[in-house]
Amino acid sequence: MKAVYLEETKRIAVKDVPKPVPGKGEVLVKVDACGICGSDVHYWQHGKIGDFVVREPMILGHEAAGTVAAVGEGADSVKVGDIVALEPGITCMKCDKCRNGLYNLCSEVRFFATPPVDGVMKEFVVHPAELVHPVPAGLSAQVASLAEPFSVGVHALRLAKFEAGQKALVLGAGIIGICVMLAAFEAGASEVAITDIQDLRLERAKALGADEIINSKNAGPKHQYYDAVFECTGVQECAASAIKAARSGGNVVMIGMGPDDMTRIPLLDAVCREVSVHGSFRYRNTYPVALDIIAKHKDLFSKLITHNFTADEAEKAFMTALQDPSACKVMVNL
Ligand SMILES: [Zn+2]
Ligand SMILES: [Zn+2]
Repeated sequence: MKAVYLEETKRIAVKDVPKPVPGKGEVLVKVDACGICGSDVHYWQHGKIGDFVVREPMILGHEAAGTVAAVGEGADSVKVGDIVALEPGITCMKCDKCRNGLYNLCSEVRFFATPPVDGVMKEFVVHPAELVHPVPAGLSAQVASLAEPFSVGVHALRLAKFEAGQKALVLGAGIIGICVMLAAFEAGASEVAITDIQDLRLERAKALGADEIINSKNAGPKHQYYDAVFECTGVQECAASAIKAARSGGNVVMIGMGPDDMTRIPLLDAVCREVSVHGSFRYRNTYPVALDIIAKHKDLFSKLITHNFTADEAEKAFMTALQDPSACKVMVNL
């Protein structure tokens, strides 16, 4: 079967590897679609993210959905032919984080396409049954694969304790910012503003329902106004303006991955106005909810998929994700 490898920095290769066999409690899934994430592009271009360094060839991709091809002993939550979305992180389920339900913080996690763990941009994958989520009827594997980035949005909304009628600001109109925005709509936001420095991205956000779009090259968001602010860029200036934009007593959720130590963050402002700043890392217990929301608005979500490629065109797909400003989610169809 085919697998899309990062052979070394800046070099992608499609290779033939043996088809896996499901063991006890595992499911064999024929992967139909795998989205390209910013992290995949980053590993391809730079060979590492923080302490995670690609030292040997690694299969890319962690945003996948497909069709159940076989089930191992005891894996009876799904059956052959079901369309399923794959939650990427295999956790230890033994540490205090896992036992307390904070499994996204497990330090033993084996997450698709995070070195040295292989990703899921391949024709077949074996995965633990509890991480194989059945998709609501009528939802394609391709659109269902968006449950991965959308889960980031669902999780961030929970951390902000977001309530219906509240106002949200999203910094960054890439796929994660868009997913946060859509999660805020679903949570009943009365107003969602979104910022970026690229007009194309802002136009897309507007078309998807943003109430206000702000090009941060020209203007900043309102100060002390939003109940919840979601920082999805990792850019120093945005992290600072996130705190300033939150109303007193409001919540700021930091999602973007920036430099190791950011300086010039107005923490005193957060202290004096009781703005709560939350870190947000991946997601936990989001997949079934995320899939239901995606199914309910599948026409809207399908607009996020702007480009489609085959496995053999993987390199072109990555180029598109890297360079094409019109790209939102680039999909590799296996
Ligand atoms: Zn992702
Ligand atoms: Zn654990």
